Formats: sequence, C-alpha cells, structure tokens
Amino acid sequence: MNNDDFLSGLQSLVIHGDQEAGSGTEETALAPAIYPASTYSARSLAEFAQMANQPRHPRYYARYGNPTQERCERLLARLEGAQAALLTSSGMGAMSTTLFALVRAGDHIVAQTAHYMGSAQLLTDLLPGLGVEVTLVDQRDTNAFFAATRENTRLIVVETPSNPTLTLTDLAAIAAFARSRGITTLADNTFASPINQRPRDFGIDLVLHSATKYLGGHSDLIAGVVCGDDDAVEKIWERAIMLGTNVSPFNAFLLLRGLRTLPMRVARQNENALALARFLETHPAVAHVHYPELESHPQHALAKRQMRHGGGVLSIELKGGEGDEQGFHAAQAFVAALKIARHAVSLGGVETLVVHAASMWEASLTPERMRQAGISPSLVRVAAGLESAADLCADMAQALPGTGD
Ligand SMILES: *Cc1c(COP(=O)(O)O)cnc(C)c1O
Repeated sequence: MNNDDFLSGLQSLVIHGDQEAGSGTEETALAPAIYPASTYSARSLAEFAQMANQPRHPRYYARYGNPTQERCERLLARLEGAQAALLTSSGMGAMSTTLFALVRAGDHIVAQTAHYMGSAQLLTDLLPGLGVEVTLVDQRDTNAFFAATRENTRLIVVETPSNPTLTLTDLAAIAAFARSRGITTLADNTFASPINQRPRDFGIDLVLHSATKYLGGHSDLIAGVVCGDDDAVEKIWERAIMLGTNVSPFNAFLLLRGLRTLPMRVARQNENALALARFLETHPAVAHVHYPELESHPQHALAKRQMRHGGGVLSIELKGGEGDEQGFHAAQAFVAALKIARHAVSLGGVETLVVHAASMWEASLTPERMRQAGISPSLVRVAAGLESAADLCADMAQALPGTGD
C-alpha cells in the first residue's frame, strides 16, 4: 500500500500539470484567470464558424466550457490517467450526465447495493421510470456482477470504497470481464481520490468524482468531474450542454486552487484516519472499526492490490448495549460529545467531520434497507481532516464512555 515516488510525482503534477505552452499573460501568471464571461465574440466570420462548430471550444458560450474550466480539466484528466475530463456543477451532475449519455430506454445497468444515496436514487428511481433496467448486486461478490449481466447490459457502475462501511469492489476483475463483453465501466472514485486509487490503471473506462470532497478539499465548493477517453468524454459533454450541468468558472478556479495541495492533504488524511482506526480498534467502547488499511478489514488483501492507502474515511460501531435502540443512542451521545470533530455530512475537507448514519438516513431508508446496507444503529462515519492525530484521538477518547472525564 505504499509508493512514495508515485506521491512525489503527483505533487509536481498538481503544481504544473494544468499549464500549456502558450504566450502572454495566461502563461506567465502564476494563478489562473477566472473568466466570468457568458459569451465570447469572434473576430471574423470564419472564426465564429470555427467556434460554433468545434466541440468543447473553451471560448464560445460558457455553458459549453470556459478557459478556467479547461485548465482544471487538463489537470484532473492527468491525475486520473485519462485523456480527457469534464467538470460539472456537482458530483450528482457528473453522475446524472454520465448516465444519460450512456444509456437509453431498453438498456440495462448493473450497479451495487451500496452507492452514494443520490446515485442510488438515480439508479433505482429515476432511470427505471425512464425505461432503463437496473440490477443491484453485492459489491463483495465479483461473480454477482457477471451473473447479473444480460444481452442489453450497457454499463456497470461501481463505487469503492463505498459509503459508509468502506466495502470494496474488485476493479481489475470487473473491468476485464466488462471489456470482454463490450460493456462500459464507470467507477465513483470519490472516497479514495486519485492519490489512493486510480481505477483507470485497472482497466475501468470512466472515473467520476464528487469534486466537492477531496479534490476541492476545503468545504467551500460544489463540483463534479468525469474522466475518460476523448470520445467518451465528448459524448458526455454533449449531454452536459443539454442538461445544463456545467461548472461555474469561479468553482473551476477554486477547485484548481484546492488541487495544488491534494497529494499533501490526502497523505495527511490517510495518516490521521489510520491513526484513528488503530486507536479506536483497541478501545473498549468500540465494537468494530471499518477501514480498508486495517488487517481486520475482510477485504484487506484486495485493498492492498488496488489502493495505495486506506483513505480518509473510516466508520465505527459502538458497543452501547445489545439492543438497536441503545446502539442508536450511544452513537448519538458520542457524536454530541465530540469537541473537535464537527457534526456534518460530506467529507474530504480540512476539518474532521462525523455523521451518525442511522439518524442521517432515518427518513429515506427503512430499517430493513439499512440492515441490508450494513448500517447498524450505532454506526458513526468519521471523515478525517488535517488536525493533529493526537488531538483527534483525544477528542474521540473523551467522547466515548468509560475512559474517565
Ligand atoms: C458526495 C458524493 C457524491 C455526490 O456529490 P455532490 O458533489 O454532492 O453532488 C457522489 N458520490 C460520492 C461517493 C459522494 O461522496
């Protein structure tokens, strides 16, 4: 799970990887310009014809793209080892636009039982209503993906590690199978970030992120991105301009600013999450810790094959009594007692965030669905920030029962 050369290579890439040889201010300014223009004028009829007819011209009409966005996309594509990237208004914008580009009525998708809630709703509610069939399988069972495919299967959607139990999907095995059948593969790589896992290295076609999380990294923007081959990304862009899921130039700028420190931030979040996981694993009030880099993770061998480190997110289950009711209340009491970790959804920012999964999904998931998704009433998700590991462990210790003050 280690590769220091890889990390230092990425650190140079995020500083310089968006630049293009050119002339003038664009090239000499050390920070990219923000272009708020909604439209761009042509200097000649010929130039207008060229602007209007070239796909993804960055200086035509801002729903189609803009120069700040183009710079950020160049860097993101390189980070994910892809030819091209498309920035979108949000992670859900990337997911919905990609799905609408790839499937139509009569097509079939294989996806996981565990997905980000918004993606799960798209797959199980919106798409079936539009005539797209979707089969969900347990991501731990690679053969279940194979068994679920049919003649009309166009797409396999995976998310690894998945929320909130850090369960993994075997990227290489699924990519190889899909390729042999001509089925496109799409991986939501938000939790790992390209620092810890690059699905394209294992043969996955399209890689998607909520850039709101690690890529942006400062809890101050909403954006998404999808990376892949030139023609695939152009097809998704054609949908994006129809759906209006374009990113704003300001957010493209903020995202580029966040990306400069991505490898350093994620390295620290990896360290903090591992320190917390190891500390909590030995704590008497904690029943279970879910974290791919722990030897106790049931898919630890797979984690070592496809991840460099375990990432910044872990989840824990508290002991708090035998009954569901007691577990629920123990988790709530723990979250309420934390002083450094903030109680908020989302992840990937500089500050440590915790959420009690059962409270978050009480309104949208039945207890039955929650059990299926492995979400026990006492499960708390921890998204490590950049604070000191010692402070974070001390905060958790004082919030857990049975350890003094
Ligand atoms: C947050 C998240 C999304 C959705 O992204 P938004 O930027 O909030 O639209 C999708 N997938 C995963 C894994 C996420 O964590």
